Amino acid sequence: MTGLVARDREHVWHPYASVVSPAPLWGVVDAHGTRLTLEDGRELVDGMSSWWAAIHGYRHPVLDRALHEQVDTFSHVMFGGLTHEPAVALAELLVAVTPQELTRVFFADSGSVAVEVAVKMCLQYWQGRGRPDRNRMLTVRGGYHGDTAGAMSVCDPVTGMHGLFREYVAEQVFVERPRPAYGEPLLDGDLDQVRAALAEHRDRLAAVIVEPVVQGAGGMRFYSPDYLRELVQLCREAGLLVVFDEIATGFGRTGTLFAMEHAGVVPDVLCVGKALTGGTMTLAATLCTTEVAEGVCATGGGFMHGPTFMANPLACAVAAASVQLLLDGDWPSDLARLERRLLAGLAPARTLPGVADVRVLGGIGVVELAGPPDAARLQEALVARGAWVRPFGRLVYTMPPYISSDEDLRTVTSAIVGAVAETVAAQPAAAG
Ligand SMILES: *Cc1c(COP(=O)(O)O)cnc(C)c1O
Repeated sequence: MTGLVARDREHVWHPYASVVSPAPLWGVVDAHGTRLTLEDGRELVDGMSSWWAAIHGYRHPVLDRALHEQVDTFSHVMFGGLTHEPAVALAELLVAVTPQELTRVFFADSGSVAVEVAVKMCLQYWQGRGRPDRNRMLTVRGGYHGDTAGAMSVCDPVTGMHGLFREYVAEQVFVERPRPAYGEPLLDGDLDQVRAALAEHRDRLAAVIVEPVVQGAGGMRFYSPDYLRELVQLCREAGLLVVFDEIATGFGRTGTLFAMEHAGVVPDVLCVGKALTGGTMTLAATLCTTEVAEGVCATGGGFMHGPTFMANPLACAVAAASVQLLLDGDWPSDLARLERRLLAGLAPARTLPGVADVRVLGGIGVVELAGPPDAARLQEALVARGAWVRPFGRLVYTMPPYISSDEDLRTVTSAIVGAVAETVAAQPAAAG
């Protein structure tokens, strides 16, 4: 297993990566608890939960056991015309942990597909209700909903991929991103653009789609729950369906089981993914109300989506184990502790030159830089300090596994502060 990185460089493509001028890369040979072991024997403390997913850390015995047991039963059967215990049990669990209005579960292979499914559900709902002209989505700028075409169409048109694929993706209706940050008061004019967009486009709008309270990959912004509540109310008054994308925020990450609970609002359609399987398998789900499900099927046909690996039994079995493990533990105190440690650990970054903002919500810690860093140098400096943290644009952020010890959290936060001090704050301003 030597020379992993050199062999990788020959043939493999990485996320958002150039094969012409590749970014630094490390080979992983083992992952256990909060630790990633590299090819050269070094251990890194994980600050990313493998993109929000590995909330219980790596190789948790409960999750591994669920996978082994299902492998020894059967790994997969098609879901058309067949069903199985892992899918039914997981659907029952998801309906039980989400608001009671959500009664129906559609399994998808990834978050992006769950968003495609949500958008198609909304469009097919309006066809079923005799309004095929309601076929556009309303959303806020600064959002991220995935990388497939329908998901891209509701991502931020500037920080997302609209620029490159403008002619390819559907045209949706955008309003400015939510102004008030989490904890800031909502002001009178904050939703004027929403009101104007609804007045102008209401007859062609099917639904509004947003990430509740936390905008993830679109900028790692935490916005006011009051804004969310008002947005939902205005959209409902205009007859729109409401779609929440909780793929990043679901299962405790923001300190509540779902981020929508900060605002006490309930959607018609909900997407979950990422942490759903505790970071072991790819699985997502789109939940909807009975009204949406019946509207979708009102023209007599079925819902027009059905992935080959829909409701994969391995993924469903481990997802049920992961969600149950979360519920059985004291996740609210874990998240409260993560929030305290991240706040304290990242606070020294506030006074560093080149740092624009430091913010924490639940198990999410963000250091926003004033300008784009030398990403490769910053990444190398983080690894040199023993932490796996992956900067993205001007954001150096962490969402550690919930099982992280105080010492793990200290390693991650001091690596962030130290690496920013070394590679950003020490640079001349012109470099930013
Ligand atoms: C990651 C993410 C997605 C896309 O999920 P994939 O599994 O990467 O396709 C969609 N919405 C949000 C909010 C996400 O964070």
